[in-house]
Amino acid sequence: MEQQTKRTWNREEIQVDTIQHYINGTFVSSHSGEMFSNIDPFKNEPINEVASGDEREVEQAVEAARHAMKNAWGTMKVEERMVYINRIADLIDEEIEEIAHLEALDTGLPISQTKKMTARAAENFRFYARMVQSVLHGESFPVDDTFLNYTVYKPIGVVGLITPWNAPFMLETWKVAPALATGNTVVLKPAELSPLTVNKLAEVIDRAGLPAGVFNVVHGYGETAGAALVAHKDVAAISFTGETTTGTTILKNAADTLKKTSMELGGKSPLIVFDDADVDRALDAAVWGIFSFNGERCTANSRVFLHKNIRDSFIAAMKERVDNLTLGDSMDSSTQLGPLISKDHMNKVNSYIELAKEEGCEVYQGAVPTHLQEGNFVPPTLLLNAENHMRVCQDEIFGPVVAVIEFEDEQEVIDAANDVEYGLAGYVWTRDIQRGHRVAQAVDAGMIWVNAQNVRDLRIPFGGMKASGIGREGGHYAMFEFYTEPKAIHIALGDHHIPQFGKK
Ligand code: NAD
Repeated sequence: MEQQTKRTWNREEIQVDTIQHYINGTFVSSHSGEMFSNIDPFKNEPINEVASGDEREVEQAVEAARHAMKNAWGTMKVEERMVYINRIADLIDEEIEEIAHLEALDTGLPISQTKKMTARAAENFRFYARMVQSVLHGESFPVDDTFLNYTVYKPIGVVGLITPWNAPFMLETWKVAPALATGNTVVLKPAELSPLTVNKLAEVIDRAGLPAGVFNVVHGYGETAGAALVAHKDVAAISFTGETTTGTTILKNAADTLKKTSMELGGKSPLIVFDDADVDRALDAAVWGIFSFNGERCTANSRVFLHKNIRDSFIAAMKERVDNLTLGDSMDSSTQLGPLISKDHMNKVNSYIELAKEEGCEVYQGAVPTHLQEGNFVPPTLLLNAENHMRVCQDEIFGPVVAVIEFEDEQEVIDAANDVEYGLAGYVWTRDIQRGHRVAQAVDAGMIWVNAQNVRDLRIPFGGMKASGIGREGGHYAMFEFYTEPKAIHIALGDHHIPQFGKK
């Protein structure tokens, strides 16, 4: 059953129907009949209503996924499975325009960025189809002429996926693609603040003709639908992306049923510019790295460390960029910075800007044009004269706000970069190749870029250390370490010694 959206991308004309769960190959409403309103961040008006699920929908979805695992997906030949996975990618490509516009409407992310994210989402499916066919094989361990031991990698079963609102479609496919390609079935609980595009994914998967129950979506709140998924005994694993505090709650709750978990959590990533760096490129990267995705980006360089010799000129150039950034309707292709996801989130970000003043920062901001006052806009903001111990340098603000901190020497900046609870990403700018490697190795982060912005090859492990997460997504890391279990098989080739206990 297709849900209808009118094929026009004008904000005023776009129409989105009520959204239902997708369970066992059908779009269904909640047992309770409960719905919640999905709010447009640009106007703060309802876009549509969304079914609110609870443990009953989770139960149905898990049962459908368990059945599909046993009777369809789990027994299907790999080649056939990959035809479905590639078909999903092709159908996403066909729907890029619609998905990207719905994502921009729903989240406030600029359309120029959601188009790229959607294209990347399709590529996730193709990438995992290739990986499973070429790399997903076990090892053999011959032991002289007595044993041949080998491993095979088996899907883990029904996996629960719980995702955030900040880049919903792309992050959902990061999980769905490897989960399905490796032979698992899925129950996905998307973020309640960004429910639109996941239903496009459900429609695409429906059209691709996957057996009923292989992929299921249960909408709803974290504390109800999300918690029920985490608690369900037949869910073998939970892959979660979201806030660190939610991650710790999920870890505790998942312990009761001994679930495997993957945690992609928050960040407060440093970008370090030494005085020998290509400062023009470093500036481009620093500005893009904090103001793209409206600053709602887990790998955002929200702390910029500037060497004292280049500090003043770099800050002057940052101010100029801040003055010139284009704020606007996320549906407009010229917009660089759109509205934040919700009023609550905007208020949270603004409260950190107030806190920065109290903590002694000089706040430099762009302006929000008067015609945008209805939306959740926070202007691009520099927190100058920041010191790393301040709360605005320690807490994840998750908006277009960057703390700028001065440093003098290498060890000092490494210590400061590491003096934070998070460890997701880091960026180093220097022309000294030895220093580049040294600092990259010394900064505690799952991912470091040297003289580069955040460009990621899909083969590379994605994830963080410390409070930024446990485990890695991407590449063969997701395939081998999370979505499959290695099974060791030991074959005796001859008559090895077996103790004869109790034999006379
Ligand atoms: P969130 O933690 O509030 O919500 C994430 C998801 O968890 C939502 O679907 C929510 O409904 C669900 N949830 C909430 N409570 C739950 C519970 N008790 N049990 C089960 N599910 C529950 O996060 P958010 O505000 O949607 O997203 C922003 C956060 O995500 C930021 O901290 C950001 O850094 C992080 N993030 C991390 C990465 C990464 O890869 N490390 C990527 C993107 C976003």
